[in-house]
Amino acid sequence: MTVNHLSSALSMSPAELEALDRRHLVRSMHRGDIADRVIIVRGEGCTVWDSLGNELLDAAGGGVWHSPIGHGRADMAEVASKQMREIEFFTSLMEFSNDKAILLAARLAELAPEGINRVFFANGGSEAVESAIKAARLYHTRHGEPDRTWILSRQHSFHGSTYGSGTLTGFPHMQAGVGPNLPNVERLSPATYYRAGYLYGGMDPTDFLVRELEETIARIGAGNIAAMIGEPVMAGGGVLRPPADYWPRMGEVLRKNGILLIADEVVTAYGRTGAWFDSVQRDLKPDMIAMAKGIAGGYAPLGATLMTDDIAETIIGSGGFFHGYTFQGHPVACALGLATIDIIEREGLIGKASQIAEWFGVGLAPAVGLDPVGDVRVEGSLACLELISDPQTTQPMDWGVAERVAFEIRTKHGVIARPYGHNLVMAPPLVITEAEARRAADAVVDVVTRLRLDGTIVAG
Ligand code: PLP
Repeated sequence: MTVNHLSSALSMSPAELEALDRRHLVRSMHRGDIADRVIIVRGEGCTVWDSLGNELLDAAGGGVWHSPIGHGRADMAEVASKQMREIEFFTSLMEFSNDKAILLAARLAELAPEGINRVFFANGGSEAVESAIKAARLYHTRHGEPDRTWILSRQHSFHGSTYGSGTLTGFPHMQAGVGPNLPNVERLSPATYYRAGYLYGGMDPTDFLVRELEETIARIGAGNIAAMIGEPVMAGGGVLRPPADYWPRMGEVLRKNGILLIADEVVTAYGRTGAWFDSVQRDLKPDMIAMAKGIAGGYAPLGATLMTDDIAETIIGSGGFFHGYTFQGHPVACALGLATIDIIEREGLIGKASQIAEWFGVGLAPAVGLDPVGDVRVEGSLACLELISDPQTTQPMDWGVAERVAFEIRTKHGVIARPYGHNLVMAPPLVITEAEARRAADAVVDVVTRLRLDGTIVAG
């Protein structure tokens, strides 16, 4: 198809747009057999509109659990426009930087857990994680321990899609068919209550997981391990909150063995679970933090690796950190990052997570105990319904079932919830209202009530 007026794509018919999508876009995280297309063209608050004019409630935070401050904000557009008129971009590599990157780094250092003062910018979460694992390895090399190359992560974690971050990711689909993946990565068990009965052989979950960590360190050798990475609360794994003593005890073992701890806060930072950084409330004392998603409100791609002075000084001293990205510290993204912090503060959005948790808790309660719903987990503004095909064995549903459930929720109720493996998750913009949260929960409850163990959804 010849496109004459790309700049006025919205003047095309929805059918024309969809045809161009099918012809030219290489979609990610999308199986070829899924015919469905939703082309979002506009947004305001928690509402988005597709090219057909359908109004949809975004209960998934832009679909990927970001969007703390909602869509289509004129104040953010103003910030971007003003910055572009001042300077759109100049490199942050070598001796150069810009005022907005400096100011945002300083604000992040104020908000970050104690001891974390330095910021290395990236363009998203995968790059932030990638930078963290390189920094960890380099840190040890510079301290005369070049054999510390192993990275510990966990099954069911999500850390990104690049080779490093993708190998750390605990979903085997990420590594399938694209090997060899990053060597020297070991995945530990996740921390979860659901299925704890058989996952941990009857032991207390934390006792089991700490013992597993100690055994893994003994097997690989402490002197060969650079770092462990973990999401304080696992998001993609199904909103898994660890036992309260999990991170303190894991951290103690890691510190004793000279292993750095990287908190992947790409989802959890910026109020998702009620704090600027979830590490603080989980008593996870990170040496580095990877963050992205909400950092610029979703109005520009931005990521960051936060680290201690010790790590920063070590990697930039004696030889430098020969690693960087063209657009890191982009002034427009950083200006939007500063504005996002202002908005979160002004609108009290950090405290909003507990309200959303309450609304979801009440709204999703009717789903608890339904046969195909193994577990309902709400952690701040994050919610997850774990879909199972057998209540006895807790066998997860096929991934396609969660996709069909999300499809039914969207097409019948105009609500966007997200299938994630066999789970259904929600992570709305933090500006969501009580009525919107209730509407999203009601939509989910309606559809899972009609879901059967064989994966079919009966007509409603
Ligand atoms: N870490 C976590 C916890 C994530 O959920 C994601 C993406 O969903 C990433 C890292 C990767 O971030 P990005 O997609 O911005 O590269």
